[in-house]
Order: sequence, then C-alpha cells, then structure tokens
Amino acid sequence: MTSERVDALLERCTQCGLCREACIVEAMGAHSITSFLCGDEDYSSWLCASCWRCQEACPEGVDIHAVMMERRRQEQPPTGYWANFRNILRSGYALPMGEGINELRRIHGLDAVKLIPVDWVAILLGEDSEKGA
Ligand code: SF4
Ligand code: SF4
Repeated sequence: MTSERVDALLERCTQCGLCREACIVEAMGAHSITSFLCGDEDYSSWLCASCWRCQEACPEGVDIHAVMMERRRQEQPPTGYWANFRNILRSGYALPMGEGINELRRIHGLDAVKLIPVDWVAILLGEDSEKGA
C-alpha cells in the first residue's frame, strides 16, 4: 500500500534495481527500502545503515530518503526502537546507561555519563510522564 506522496515520489522510478544492487543491507541478505522500490513487499523501511549508496546509484534522481521517511510513517518500527530512542534522549547512548555504567567508568578513570531524568524524556517525547517512564 502506498500513499499519494509516495506515488508522486516514485513517478520517475523505473524499478531498474540499481539501488538494490548498491544497498549494503541487501548485500547482507535482508531487505531494505530498495526492495520496496523494486516492487517487493518483503522489506522494512527501518532496515538501513544510512549510507545513501542507493541514492547515489539511482539514475533517475528518485528521492529515496523521502520515500523511506514516508514509508516509516506507515510502518511499525522494529522491537526495541522506542526503548533505544528513550535511552539516547536520556544519556546519548542507545543502550541503557544506569548508575552501574558510571561505577565502571569511574574504575577506568572516565567521567560519569550525565543522565537526564526519565520524566524529562517523557516531556521531550510529548508523553504523559506517568506512562513514559
Ligand atoms: S535506482 Fe532509482 S529508478 Fe532504479 S529502482 Fe532504485 S529508485 Fe527506482
Ligand atoms: S541508505 Fe539504507 S537503503 Fe540506501 S543503500 Fe544504504 S543501507 Fe541501503
């Protein structure tokens, strides 16, 4: 299923497959937005290394980044996406960084990671702070 916006972005696409040939996600056996561009339904717009080799390979100048962002608005993100996103907002790292990591960092002579309060993360995400923790 595509939106009108995606249809407009794909006007110049000839499904030549050059973007898919260039894609490093495809080279690893998974299916990125480039499979969608080739007409396949088995893909995830969230599987991407942001290398933009696909964009450089496209002879028609299709705005593949814009297609990907449009599709992401329609598709569920992978499991763990929001947890990782919250972690990044809280500490700058995708993995959870509690006080345990600071103890390890102190042992190795590193500065502590500065954590912002969980309810601030909820505010940044526009969530009810009761639910966002
Ligand atoms: S390289 Fe461009 S024209 Fe070819 S399939 Fe990909 S987006 Fe479409
Ligand atoms: S930007 Fe994403 S979809 Fe494009 S070639 Fe790189 S990994 Fe593949």
